[in-house]
Amino acid sequence: MRRMPTSTLTTNSNDKPQLPVISLAALQSLMKDRGQPAFRAKQVIDWRNKGVLNPDEMKNIPNELRLILNEELLCQPLRLVRRECSSDGTRKYVFALNRPRMAGKMVESVLIPEESRGTVCISSQVGCVLDCPFCHTGTQAFEANLTAGEIIAQVLMIKADLRNEPLTGELHNEVTHIVYMGMGEPLANEAGLHESLIMLLSDDGLKLSRRRITVSTSGLVPQINRLGETFNVNLAISLHSAIDTLRDVLVPINKKHPLKQLRDCLNRYSLGKQRHITLEYVLLKETNDREEDLQALIDFVNPERERVNLIQFNTYPGSPYEGSSKEHMSKFAQRLISKGIRATVRRSRGQDIMAACGQLKAETSVE
Ligand code: SF4
Repeated sequence: MRRMPTSTLTTNSNDKPQLPVISLAALQSLMKDRGQPAFRAKQVIDWRNKGVLNPDEMKNIPNELRLILNEELLCQPLRLVRRECSSDGTRKYVFALNRPRMAGKMVESVLIPEESRGTVCISSQVGCVLDCPFCHTGTQAFEANLTAGEIIAQVLMIKADLRNEPLTGELHNEVTHIVYMGMGEPLANEAGLHESLIMLLSDDGLKLSRRRITVSTSGLVPQINRLGETFNVNLAISLHSAIDTLRDVLVPINKKHPLKQLRDCLNRYSLGKQRHITLEYVLLKETNDREEDLQALIDFVNPERERVNLIQFNTYPGSPYEGSSKEHMSKFAQRLISKGIRATVRRSRGQDIMAACGQLKAETSVE
């Protein structure tokens, strides 16, 4: 069985360990150093895992320990700036970073509730190092990699929000699935990604199954190999074209890691039973939705191990692209299915609050 590395990278720019990702062992050692009984570490971790990051709200710990936690740790690496709720239950959160020189820089996360699951889509960078021309985030300059604490704080603060203000109707009120599909390219922030995965998977963290975590990447081949070897979580690839010349434009990292390299890497990615790799394909009118695009996609996909997720293009102000029509999308899907390829059309959620795929972009800074 694959052994998961333990968390060692718990520092931030202040060099203080961050509460959202600190391990039980590291907290126990801190308790010992500060003359506190060992059981207090477990109490703090229990609060943390429920989404309570402010020591003043941890009801069963003494004041003295609250002061120690505030002194020794960065407890709240993010501050909630705004929450917008869509008519379909989707919630978009805007968080500001709480670190020197980045004060006021913002990232966005989205909660997508369904009847049987609650998925949180998290960001891994402020802006993005890559520059995919159809993506709203890509139009924002890269500013920083998020620390693991900042990545996990998004999940924990959404858990807390759900408890304080549950969803109504039939929607699920727990966070059950995590997707790294928000702002940024997670594999370009490998240290932050790996440490955040340790917290999501570990017994003293959120204890999620690998099957419930998906990392979405534009195709950084060496990093995908390492992700598979170390964590083996679900993988989604922003494919968007199976023709090199077009993918060079739509997903410029293709110039560095062209389709042949990506194909070999996907063939090697280890998959458990009944698991598959998702190939994301946003349909852009008369750009990548032509007959030749469909044929190239059919040739690229390995139907035994992969499925295609066709995504409706969500436009944003100033976008140079237009989405394919719904009828065209379903014809495209049918053609894939007729070739034995599992293909789905992703229902767009939270469009009214600009929370749908490719629409995330923190518009402003706050002080
Ligand atoms: S699609 Fe992903 S990798 Fe490309 S610019 Fe947008 S956030 Fe970055």
